[in-house]
Amino acid sequence: MELKIRTNENFSRVSESYLFSEIAKRVKARAEADPTAKIIRLGIGDVTLPLAPAVTEAMEAAVREMGVKETFRGYAPEYGYDFLREAISGHYRRLGLDVPASEIYASDGAKCDCGNAVDIFGDNEILIPDPVYPVYLDSNLMVGRRVTLLPTSEETGFLPTPDGLTGEGYIVYLCSPGNPTGAAFTKDGLRQWVDFAIRTGSLIIFDSAYEAFVTEDGVPRSVYEIEGARECAVEICSLSKSAGFTGTRCGWFVIPHGVRAGGVPLYKLWERRQATKFNGIPYVVQRGAEAALLPEGRRQSMENVAYYRKNAAVIAEALSKRGVFFTGGVNSPYVWMRCPRGLSSWEFFDLLLDRAAVVGTPGAGFGKCGEGYFRLTAFGSAEATEEAVGRLEKLL
Ligand code: PLP
Repeated sequence: MELKIRTNENFSRVSESYLFSEIAKRVKARAEADPTAKIIRLGIGDVTLPLAPAVTEAMEAAVREMGVKETFRGYAPEYGYDFLREAISGHYRRLGLDVPASEIYASDGAKCDCGNAVDIFGDNEILIPDPVYPVYLDSNLMVGRRVTLLPTSEETGFLPTPDGLTGEGYIVYLCSPGNPTGAAFTKDGLRQWVDFAIRTGSLIIFDSAYEAFVTEDGVPRSVYEIEGARECAVEICSLSKSAGFTGTRCGWFVIPHGVRAGGVPLYKLWERRQATKFNGIPYVVQRGAEAALLPEGRRQSMENVAYYRKNAAVIAEALSKRGVFFTGGVNSPYVWMRCPRGLSSWEFFDLLLDRAAVVGTPGAGFGKCGEGYFRLTAFGSAEATEEAVGRLEKLL
């Protein structure tokens, strides 16, 4: 039967999310055609190493507290327990930044914050880099927003610039180090955007989900390393990639109290939104997240990040040796390479799968400007990465 209700027509503007299902389909066909082939997946965006011991110990202790009347806890505060907000504030302090706990809103991950943030904005022109993590685009299209894509290319190292933008009052999504390109802003590059935002009364939504991968001096790990950002930028971050929380779920949204629009501080709108639609993250997870941010847990988690970084370096080194253009590989678990011999993203995907039994992600799946490029990730095992890179090199 057909119901007599209207659905959200904006959903028709969102293209079918076929990228990962299409990859899975082609990989399955390859495996069936040759069951002895050892297929290596360098396409995964998920972590593979376990949570740090300090994190699981904190969570175990928290579970036990939940089983005792005196220490049991019910609904968690919508913005996170103070102990977690303080631990996040401490994380920023170690970066040399003053981000008070009261400006930090804990959440169940960066994807949710990216998707939910649209609730507090009206009809603005939204600027989104191309290629990009698809959540920014789709969540704005779903609520009918006007989106302008910012094309990026090899010439700008796949980083967007504000050149040529003449309007004002934009909302700009920036992600650094980026997914899928691994490209990271220098302080000067990011400063251009902060200056632009201040000049034009625009808001920057800065996604720093990969901050833990930054190793180079002069590459910011938070937008607040740039002067003036506390007036024009909010920041979304996550423990998914820095501490292996993809399945455990914890992130945060920073909204400095000085960020205001239409006479209202944005944080007031976010607090109202969260109090209405969000009921907090589990106490057990918050204790684990706190442990991941305290020095011992952070040190242990960063051992995993170092492991992934080594994989990224192995991939990057092979491409450098062959003179293949790429971004990422440093400051990022992603390597974004130009497909050889002018192949399209999907042509190279098929070639790599058929001839080398290696799976990557076609760049065209992240936006038009991704056509002709390919994403490899460092989240596999060191052995598999070495093996895959050896096979890849033969096709370059
Ligand atoms: N932001 C970017 C740029 C990502 O690549 C991802 C996940 O891959 C996320 C956010 C999602 O993070 P979370 O697991 O915290 O939802």
